[in-house]
Amino acid sequence: MLKGPFRLCLALIHTNPSSGQLIDWRDPDQCPLCDQEDENIQHLLIGCVFAKQFWLVILHNFGLAALAPQPSDSSFDVWWDKTILMVNGDVKRGLNSLIILGAWTIWKHRNDCVFNGATPNLITALTLAWEEAMLWSWPRGCPGTQLRRIDKGSLVVRSFS
Ligand SMILES: [Zn+2]
Repeated sequence: MLKGPFRLCLALIHTNPSSGQLIDWRDPDQCPLCDQEDENIQHLLIGCVFAKQFWLVILHNFGLAALAPQPSDSSFDVWWDKTILMVNGDVKRGLNSLIILGAWTIWKHRNDCVFNGATPNLITALTLAWEEAMLWSWPRGCPGTQLRRIDKGSLVVRSFS
């Protein structure tokens, strides 16, 4: 089940409900981040080698590398639900924010590659995630608030660059 504002974000992504294929006419057949497999939302967010590296690095920066998607994880929603059950308290709230931020960042980087001719680059995506994290200033109680709490809290935060 999708959570909070991310549900709205994904609602903006047009997919064929039977196949999960992105149906925007400008989208390439192949994943623009790895150019190895057909593009669909599950591949893009969790199955792509680029996404796997992205999640590993971003979660490692918070001491949560063990929660990164595994080869057996093929559904973003299932991975998210499973991952959230493995933590509690402030870490759970912060991790929700981090997953929303990560998925949003992968999607933005994908769009930059498709529509602006950018080259897939892990450092660029991680830098974008860090910049987005700094820009997110949501009202109290929204996930961004929890992300800031992690930034200032007990988890170790390292620069993405
Ligand atoms: Zn890919």
